[in-house]
Amino acid sequence: MSIRFVIIGGGPGGNTAATVAARLGAEVTLIERDLVGGAAHLWDCIPSKAMIATGGFLSELDRARVMGLAADGCLDIEALRERIASIETKLQRSISGLLSSQGVRIIAGTGRLKGPGQVIAETETGVEELDADAILLSTGSRPRIPDWAPLDGERVLTTRQAYPPPEMPGHLVIIGSGVTGVEFAHMFRSLGSEISLIVSRQQVLPGKDPEVAAALEAEFLRRGVHLYKGARAAGIDLDGAELAVRCDDGRVVRGTHAVLAVGSVPNSDMLCLDAAGVTADAAGYIPVNHHLQSSVPHIYVAGDLSGKLPLSSVAAMQGRKIAEHVMGLHTSNHRHLDYDKAASAIFTEPEIADVGLAEAEAFAEGRKLRVTKVPYSSNAKALIEGDSRGFVKIISDPATGVVLGGSIVGRGAAELISVLAVAVTCNLKVVDIADALLVHPTLAESLHDAAE
Ligand SMILES: Cc1cc2nc3c(=O)[nH]c(=O)nc-3n(C[C@H](O)[C@H](O)[C@H](O)COP(=O)(O)OP(=O)(O)OC[C@H]3O[C@@H](n4cnc5c(N)ncnc54)[C@H](O)[C@@H]3O)c2cc1C
Repeated sequence: MSIRFVIIGGGPGGNTAATVAARLGAEVTLIERDLVGGAAHLWDCIPSKAMIATGGFLSELDRARVMGLAADGCLDIEALRERIASIETKLQRSISGLLSSQGVRIIAGTGRLKGPGQVIAETETGVEELDADAILLSTGSRPRIPDWAPLDGERVLTTRQAYPPPEMPGHLVIIGSGVTGVEFAHMFRSLGSEISLIVSRQQVLPGKDPEVAAALEAEFLRRGVHLYKGARAAGIDLDGAELAVRCDDGRVVRGTHAVLAVGSVPNSDMLCLDAAGVTADAAGYIPVNHHLQSSVPHIYVAGDLSGKLPLSSVAAMQGRKIAEHVMGLHTSNHRHLDYDKAASAIFTEPEIADVGLAEAEAFAEGRKLRVTKVPYSSNAKALIEGDSRGFVKIISDPATGVVLGGSIVGRGAAELISVLAVAVTCNLKVVDIADALLVHPTLAESLHDAAE
């Protein structure tokens, strides 16, 4: 008899696990209360990057003069809304088609645990009880809403209410300067809004390489973004067409709209974890071992709910690893997920991407490193494209030459970091990158130069 695998939540964690397990022969049921593809497709990665792409296009038009062209752009907010919806529909159809072709049963409803081997699916037509040999909880997370924020979905918004908002903000105050905050600052600035960014620490992107954060801050200042450093929002007063964000140090930041980018909370509260004996931490995340098993071995956790790296790419990889473990495919040489080797990107201008060891952290630990940095200003393709801001940095072990990490700031960073991600995952040496015969002229040649 095949293994009965029940999955609650159809985001990248859940739908990848479903596809892989079904392909390997499991009888898979996926319960999704909204649309497969998850928040990743509906609310987070896809709509934000679609809006950034439109903003990027407007920036390109701004640069048209550099290229010897005269061009003008005017935002059509309805067309943008339709474009985002059409991308989401295409991606959802593609995932649903893949799941159906693998024989995955999709239940449109809300799932919760009934016992260690039982799941309840509540649908519009009633309640169904499902017996399971293995269960995956992949219900993701939702934006954190501080109790001082008078959220109304029109002027005070979560990130999910801003794709695009009912009206384009004249002056948007963004509360939070992590990855989401800076992407929103870039996105709305490119689309024409005035931006004030509340930065709780002394640099945007806390925890990132200070040189990388400084490059982004410099660009923000050049583009007229107002940075309020060392300020924590503590309240918002609405006053006619204006609003005022009060900070705990007494400063007041005025604008027309505010967006909250202050982190997320896990969707574990409705899962009835106690019914199955699954343990969560104080914040509601579910701790897992390296096989992504919860405190109950046949109940697995993937994605944001696991409290690991909140990235769609990580959720999908966790889903794949879980499916393989459920189907008994893990062997002694099976590679566990190494979160320290996950590549990530920030889709701002300049684009930022990094992987592996962070230089500042490693130096603080007293580790010996070889760091080579090459500016884009010496790259032929960057000069041809009229945008030579940024750099490529490779961090390696001086004794062995093994690539330990790297950062890229500038055009194509999110694509180019893949080269360093493969190098870091496969323990390649800098000489392996230097020896590769690359295409000329390309931005990738800067990786080559940094590896020499
Ligand atoms: C603004 C923003 C931009 C981002 N951009 C990127 C990016 O560019 N790249 C990247 O890698 N990551 C990005 N992320 C992170 C990424 O969106 C998440 O890490 C990813 O969505 C996590 O996937 P998941 O499978 O855990 O859950 P989700 O994608 O959140 O999916 C969970 C699913 O579970 C369903 N669900 C919840 N509870 C139940 C229930 N009880 N029963 C049934 N269904 C349920 C939900 O409806 C949802 O469909 C971004 C995040 C934000 C906030």
